[in-house]
Amino acid sequence: AAKKAGKGRYSFFADAMLGDVQQRMQLEQRLRECLRLDQLEVWFQPIIDVRSGEVAMFEALARWPLDGGYCSPERFIPVAEETGMITELGAAVARKVIEALPSLLAVSQAHVVNVNLSPKQLMNKQLVAQMCDLIDAAGLLRSSIHFELTESALAHNADFAKQQLDALAEAGFHLHLDDFGTGYSSLHRLQSLPFSTLKLDRSFVLMLGEGDERISKAIILLAEQLGMSVIAEGIETAEQQARLQALGCHLIQGYLNARPMPLAQLLLWLEQR
Ligand code: C2E
Ligand code: MG
Ligand code: MG
Ligand code: MG
Repeated sequence: AAKKAGKGRYSFFADAMLGDVQQRMQLEQRLRECLRLDQLEVWFQPIIDVRSGEVAMFEALARWPLDGGYCSPERFIPVAEETGMITELGAAVARKVIEALPSLLAVSQAHVVNVNLSPKQLMNKQLVAQMCDLIDAAGLLRSSIHFELTESALAHNADFAKQQLDALAEAGFHLHLDDFGTGYSSLHRLQSLPFSTLKLDRSFVLMLGEGDERISKAIILLAEQLGMSVIAEGIETAEQQARLQALGCHLIQGYLNARPMPLAQLLLWLEQR
């Protein structure tokens, strides 16, 4: 009987594993199909300068319409990374951002869009030329794109990562260090890399809301000492925003001010402000 139960458990386990593998393969196939049919969307979230109340810039966020809803980037970006589809996905995002820029420029003072790059994208030798070609062909300024990278982009092959970051900066793109404080970055390395902005991670903003402002304060001070700006992410309450402003952080991104929106909705939102 024990043997039978064991066997039963084994086959149940094997089925579950097969289910995962099949699900994953299906997701991969459907993502490939989404890219082939050019169905990936890019949404935009405004970042506000609370000193003036004006929009300072936007962050571009990939959206994959799936089964009547949207599949989260937390789920499909890793799939794209592991299968190599990230190069194509990244190019599609950049293309859509560049297509959106003229209509954004027409209705907004803000003329910068922040584009996320994953670690694999940074390791692609063609990245810099690809991004320059796309933006130059559209006749736009390279400074209208800022790239966001997380500390994990620096974890492997740090020398090549630095080389790529230097090349992007030399080409005229500004660089933001995303989710700062959640990964491993040595402060020594930080000051040798061409980042112009630190993005204060949402986890510290949440601590701020609970009355603990120590880390937010330290990161804002660090950025100031290094001559960098700070953008705070995930601001959902007026209290969080007020505390950040009191600490000297003025660039605010979060649901309190605006959620990510499709371009058409963003243009209406901008016109109504
Ligand atoms: P991220 O770059 O740190 O982007 C910020 C995330 O926080 C976005 O999640 C945004 O929708 C969310 N967010 C903004 N304000 C608030 C808020 O007030 N509260 C909360 N709870 N969340 C807020 P999203 O769009 O799901 O993207 C998740 C991650 O996926 C991004 O984190 C980024 O790492 C990655 N990602 C998204 N689009 C792209 C892309 O085009 N390329 C690459 N390589 N990665 C992308
Ligand atoms: Mg980002
Ligand atoms: Mg972030
Ligand atoms: Mg993040």
